[in-house]
Amino acid sequence: MELIAHRVSLPLKTPFVTSFGAQDHRAALVFELIHNGITAFSEAVTDEGPFYSYEDNNTAFHIIEAYLTEQMKDVPKPVEFLNRVKFVKGHLMAKAALEMLLWDYHAKVEGTPLYRYIGKTNGKAQIGISIGMADPDEMRKQTSKAVELGYKRIKVKIKKGKEEEIVGNVRSAIGDFPLSVDANTDFTLEDTEALMALDKYGLVYMEQPLDHDDIIDHAELARRIRTPICLDESIVSRDRVRKAIEAKACTVINIKPGRVSGFTESLAIAKLARDHGLHTWVGGMLETGVGRAFNIALASSAYIDSPGDTSPNEKYFEKDIVKNPFIMEDGFITPMDGPGIGVEIDRDRLKKVTLDRVRLL
Ligand SMILES: [Mg+2]
Repeated sequence: MELIAHRVSLPLKTPFVTSFGAQDHRAALVFELIHNGITAFSEAVTDEGPFYSYEDNNTAFHIIEAYLTEQMKDVPKPVEFLNRVKFVKGHLMAKAALEMLLWDYHAKVEGTPLYRYIGKTNGKAQIGISIGMADPDEMRKQTSKAVELGYKRIKVKIKKGKEEEIVGNVRSAIGDFPLSVDANTDFTLEDTEALMALDKYGLVYMEQPLDHDDIIDHAELARRIRTPICLDESIVSRDRVRKAIEAKACTVINIKPGRVSGFTESLAIAKLARDHGLHTWVGGMLETGVGRAFNIALASSAYIDSPGDTSPNEKYFEKDIVKNPFIMEDGFITPMDGPGIGVEIDRDRLKKVTLDRVRLL
């Protein structure tokens, strides 16, 4: 067998601006597993720096190379792999990269598309869009265009001190179209008044206003404001969801398989959340066509009820590393029907954007 890590740098069409900075390319770690005539792929959701979470590409690579690769030798089922790597504390993004590689591999062994292999499916994913910060005219333009393109929900990034200006501007551009905001942890409970001021805009939810690993303060904020709270960064496991439900910290959950150690945990989180009446959707980390295919497969699960941040590839990249990018129709994307994630890798393109490749096994 072969296990290869490709370090990729794929330019973004336009810089993506959030409360923690601007990004003009996707620095991805793409993994390839070749075994018994099957080739599987996956992607770590880490990036160059520890800004979204404590993990980055270098920590993920280190953890994978030093501790996780060893457990891949007999290509175990994903659940078995997770049990074996419990001795590594945290580093869920590193674990997810290999866990998802195993989902693609085993779905391909069965000859089944991943979105069917994972259980009950809706057969398609509802698509929303995540729009980074830009000047007011540009944000009016981009959000109005998203409505025209048929997206089912628009999310805009906000930051402290700019929140009402951004929301007011966008709300006046798109009328009563479903709108949410993502603060990426930029606020504290001391900003309650500023966040309360957003109540009048009728947002479908406010995503992760407070600290990246907080539950308790979000529960307090949820008591103070009318806008529903969605947790993203804070949700790293089904156990965190259980605590968030008990504390009444949120009514919406953003699931990113690459953040929660992969599909096993994502499916458990989605089921637990839906069983308790919470809304669920699948987020994104500017993934290339590889990671994007996993997100679309998950977003098609029957346990996902709300539109996700799973735009077609062309929103982010001029030319992706896959030959068969997703197309959005009437606000939906249908997952690939080939075995596993179903994407066909564009080898020439991959080679061109690869900085280096390392054989791990
Ligand atoms: Mg978010």
